[in-house]
Amino acid sequence: MKILYQAADRIEAQLLKDHLRDHHIETLVQGEYLSGGVGELPALQFPLLWVIDDRDLELAKRLIREWFGAAARQAAWVCPNCGESNEGQFRVCWNCGLPHE
Ligand SMILES: [Zn+2]
Repeated sequence: MKILYQAADRIEAQLLKDHLRDHHIETLVQGEYLSGGVGELPALQFPLLWVIDDRDLELAKRLIREWFGAAARQAAWVCPNCGESNEGQFRVCWNCGLPHE
């Protein structure tokens, strides 16, 4: 097993774990079972994502990079019709009204 990624929180770790599982890469999140009691969160601990099969490491790293890249693309987009750049929260181009997928 090799350390793949240190997540910001459990939600991010779980999202990445699910994403990698979709690509048939099994991972293990270290830290998700370490809470001391009910409702008690280990605030200082960032979950570590481990890849179980070392041979999956490079592919898993690439998938994570692509995953974050896709998230970044949602943050801002360029209208294919008029070329204006739009903030991610706009579902249509502010300039020409073209709907964004
Ligand atoms: Zn436009």
